[in-house]
Amino acid sequence: HQPLIIASGLKKHFPVRSGLLNRQTATVHAVDGVSFEVKKGETLGIVGESGCGKSTTARLLIGLIELDDGSIIFDGDKLGSDISLKELRRGVQMVFQDSYASLNPRLTILDSVAFGPKLHGLKDPAGIARNLLGRVGLDPDRFAHRYPHELSGGQRQRVNIARALAMSPRLVILDEAVSALDKSVEAQVLNLLNDLREELGLTYVFISHDLNVVRYISDRVLVMYLGEVVEVGPVESIYETQAHPYTASLFAAMPSMDPDNRTEEPPLAGDPPNPINPPSGCRFHTRCRFAEGVCASRKPKLATIGGDADHLAACHMHDAASGHSLALKEAAE
Ligand code: SF4
Ligand code: MG
Repeated sequence: HQPLIIASGLKKHFPVRSGLLNRQTATVHAVDGVSFEVKKGETLGIVGESGCGKSTTARLLIGLIELDDGSIIFDGDKLGSDISLKELRRGVQMVFQDSYASLNPRLTILDSVAFGPKLHGLKDPAGIARNLLGRVGLDPDRFAHRYPHELSGGQRQRVNIARALAMSPRLVILDEAVSALDKSVEAQVLNLLNDLREELGLTYVFISHDLNVVRYISDRVLVMYLGEVVEVGPVESIYETQAHPYTASLFAAMPSMDPDNRTEEPPLAGDPPNPINPPSGCRFHTRCRFAEGVCASRKPKLATIGGDADHLAACHMHDAASGHSLALKEAAE
């Protein structure tokens, strides 16, 4: 059946001041030709270092910022022709990392959750809010009239989840939504999210730097580097075999529960290059230990690797026609 989201060639470039006395303008290639699908009912995890374009991608999906290029099809409707930004914003809600910043400190919990339904003229916004507070595990009799500062971080994030759900969204984007919580609270909120997804038939895009959390909650994982998708695939497949050298380095830095199960891959050195002037060809070539001449001159395309049609990576090593010799070398050994 048809995916909930089809994102094709998304581009977002931001002008920034640079140079001596900030007198020049330059362009940050925040999201640079990103394509992916989100299937109905799944959780798509998005991972990558900070600055890779994860959050910008999320903001494009929710209509918080406008596309420079590319298209978004939401449940069969094309943004801009079949549905407006306003309609998209109603169908897609977002929960951010900072549980406090997204709540109005002067509104009670009940009023915060009832705000959206009220604005959209729904019947009985207070009833909707009380019901949702119960659903996210906050007894409305105890919590409805409290203020955000009277709650713990975990409780506030439950309120933010209730607030997102109050608009009956199809897609919820969770941008580092559990990253600020203690480990035990984080586990509770993750389980709540899983339960809600099942009960309400929701679809999630889950953005996180924490690969263990992403593994726990995601069905598929998208890996981004400097504004591009470098690998995407089913969670088991990606956690077992990282086809892109960047993914391999990222995962090598992941704290593993099982010390026998660590990869041999050396962790990534240095910071990502400046997104104002991204490297030519494969953007990872300045940090990749397998880089060859072709890597700097030609951009690798996302292509299936191995036998799994759903697992794709953008690396010349997997493309026999590219002239990258590693595959040949390995075969000869
Ligand atoms: Fe490394 Fe080349 Fe593959 Fe890029 S295309 S990840 S530089 S081997
Ligand atoms: Mg971010």
